Amino acid sequence: MPGDAPSLKSYTLQNLGDVEQVARLPEEARREMQVVGSVLPFKANNYVVEELIDWERVPDDPIFALTFPQRGMLKPEHYRKMEEALGGGGEREVADSIRMELNPHPAGQMELNVPSLADGTRLYGMQHKYKETCLFFPSQSQTCHAYCSFCFRWPQFVGMDEMKFAMKEGEQLAAYVGEHPEITDVLFTGGDPMIMRARVFAKYVDALLESRPGSLRTIRIGTKALAYWPYKFLTDPDAGEMLDVFRQVSEAGIHLAFMAHFNHPRELGTQAVRDAIAAVRASGAQIRTQSPVLSHINDDAATWARMWAEQVSLGCIPYYMFVVRDTGAQHYFGVPLVRAYKIFTEAYTSLSGLARTVRGPSMSATPGKVAVLGTPVVGGRRAILLKFLQGRNPGWAGEPFLAKYDERAIWLDDLEPLEGGRFFFEEELEGIRAARTRKT
Ligand SMILES: *Cc1c(COP(=O)(O)O)cnc(C)c1O
Ligand code: SF4
Repeated sequence: MPGDAPSLKSYTLQNLGDVEQVARLPEEARREMQVVGSVLPFKANNYVVEELIDWERVPDDPIFALTFPQRGMLKPEHYRKMEEALGGGGEREVADSIRMELNPHPAGQMELNVPSLADGTRLYGMQHKYKETCLFFPSQSQTCHAYCSFCFRWPQFVGMDEMKFAMKEGEQLAAYVGEHPEITDVLFTGGDPMIMRARVFAKYVDALLESRPGSLRTIRIGTKALAYWPYKFLTDPDAGEMLDVFRQVSEAGIHLAFMAHFNHPRELGTQAVRDAIAAVRASGAQIRTQSPVLSHINDDAATWARMWAEQVSLGCIPYYMFVVRDTGAQHYFGVPLVRAYKIFTEAYTSLSGLARTVRGPSMSATPGKVAVLGTPVVGGRRAILLKFLQGRNPGWAGEPFLAKYDERAIWLDDLEPLEGGRFFFEEELEGIRAARTRKT
């Protein structure tokens, strides 16, 4: 490794003036950042600012759009309200009231997915929505190296949701997996679990490896650290120790799957990220990649084709293209389903089979992960063909269904069944919802 270890410098609204590239922007642009950043969380760091953003291209630069607040992220009436409050006091109250309107708990994850131990203990730091995979939110991973401007987890970064989804105890995680032999995968998520010190992360992993629930096959880590702070695996004081933890998982015969978020090919271009990818892979982990398709950032097929091709060259496995969720700044980043499908297909068909491991575009909606498969003509009418990749009822997975063609639809809720009536899953979903509500 190179001898110099870059040290992390984080930027928030308070010290934004320290970023000389920002100080050089027109005053109007800086003002807009303050207004939007007062509602939606902002955090960047020296790697993002110095290595990823092309300041010549700001404000149109995709990585700038990925991390910095932009005026369009707030609807005009919210923008005006916040701008007025910034001069006249009551800022916090106004910010909170706007945040409440931005739909802080999408996809029913608050109540529908919270599991319990056999003794009745509710595990708020976990979600178990799909049979094989449970999500684990360690209490120490409720932040990230930088924040994505499109992120649907923003309520937890502004303190609306503090630690609601977090859990301290590795033992509870191991106990839950032990009680549920259908679980093969534990997915560490957050925030970003790779914000944790290696020693802290090791505690959770040790708890799993020690109790070694018989059905556990894979530990997944959902992380953006490769894109936002690759030094975590290169030169940070605990870099070697973290890679050792990965190695221990592999040596125990458990697959370590890195679910890496990359939103733009530029995030794959620095020497640091390339070295970090090599180091993670050398530890025995596999890197799978995922990203939503985002207006202002990556909403064209050439960008996706470049990104997937680059990932395959670096030994990563393209996994999911997502549709951005219905919360926060969806009106700004959202891409209609029909367009997302075109972008996906054009990129997918331009690459060899090794990149066609990717699936999507997929919505993580209340009933499940639903992918757009095409826009066929059925009985003389154009339609949208969809399929469950994951279902709240596992039996829904694989089931194709049709919706009326709609070029403006950006989410499952916007769609109507081609034949009228209700989608095949709706009644059962209502039943599941009612049953869960009764239990709590
Ligand atoms: C995406 C997702 C998973 C993992 O699904 P895979 O298709 O196995 O990658 C698990 N739980 C939730 C809630 C998810 O959204
Ligand atoms: S790294 Fe993930 S959790 Fe963190 S801000 Fe970005 S999308 Fe959200």
